[in-house]
Amino acid sequence: MKTFIEHVLGHSPNRQKLGVFGKVAAYYGCVEAQGRGSLHCHMMVWIKGGMDPNAIRQRINELHDEEFCRRLITYLDDCIINEVPPKPPDVSEDQNPLGHPCQRFGDSCPDEEPARQLDIHNLVKECQTHRHEKTCYKYWKGPPEPKKCRFDLDPDNVKLASEIDDNGNILLRAVDGMINNYNRTILECVRCNMDVKFIASGPDAKAIMYYITDYVTKSPLSAHASYVALESAVKRLKDKEKVDTSSDSAAASLVQRCAFSMLSNQEMSAQQVASELLDLEDHFTSDRFRNLYWLQARSMVTDSASTGTVVEEAEESADSDEPSIDRLLDERTYI
Ligand SMILES: [Zn+2]
Repeated sequence: MKTFIEHVLGHSPNRQKLGVFGKVAAYYGCVEAQGRGSLHCHMMVWIKGGMDPNAIRQRINELHDEEFCRRLITYLDDCIINEVPPKPPDVSEDQNPLGHPCQRFGDSCPDEEPARQLDIHNLVKECQTHRHEKTCYKYWKGPPEPKKCRFDLDPDNVKLASEIDDNGNILLRAVDGMINNYNRTILECVRCNMDVKFIASGPDAKAIMYYITDYVTKSPLSAHASYVALESAVKRLKDKEKVDTSSDSAAASLVQRCAFSMLSNQEMSAQQVASELLDLEDHFTSDRFRNLYWLQARSMVTDSASTGTVVEEAEESADSDEPSIDRLLDERTYI
């Protein structure tokens, strides 16, 4: 991942290079395990000079800046692709390299060479072609609701050119309705399934932002596993000790046992365990984060609000370990 960040995204602490999306201002990625255990990374990348969604909307909807729209679409069409690139015309089937493309290194020859064209053609076909599975329809309530893949991939879902609609929504092309969005350079480097999306504005941006922050912050324990762990903690407490649950200390003990039980009953894949033992990182970021002690912050604000002493108290506590209001409101503090 570090190599990817430095050489493909072009971001390193000391030197900024041009990466596949331009210059990177910041990034945050977290490592997740799939149901079968494979590790993968979800990452948000902020591009230097990237405009905030409101500014983009204003340029599109209010200023009707056509040149801006054209340049934005050109940039996005260059970064995000969803079609199978053609096979080089003079390559026959028996020249096709054996094995899955993810098991081989790519060709470092120039872009226009047949070997490289064949490699990217095979990569897209093998890694980016969506095949519907049961999980595609897990939110489908049955007829009369139309049976739609929840990833919105369908052979009929084709749009040959990107455009911006009357509401200012950016609708990117979908040349092949069954190909997952990819970036050619990234796919050639990582050689496995990938997805890439532009987070601009509107409901799509909100949905994607929610999806990603949910991934970043979600507990590694699923809801059903949490309930099983909770049940086992309560059962153990009942079996082993005759506790008077009316007392505060018994209630505290129950909560503590539940917490321990939930922590110790986490399901981890072999890949996650190996990654942990090898001391590999489970998240990657360009920024430093500070903890926000919510309860202290809230009581500090409410206690001080009536007396108007927030600033004085913050100055007094600047050297202490307690979080001061200055530190809490520091613009680089993320929640
Ligand atoms: Zn599907």
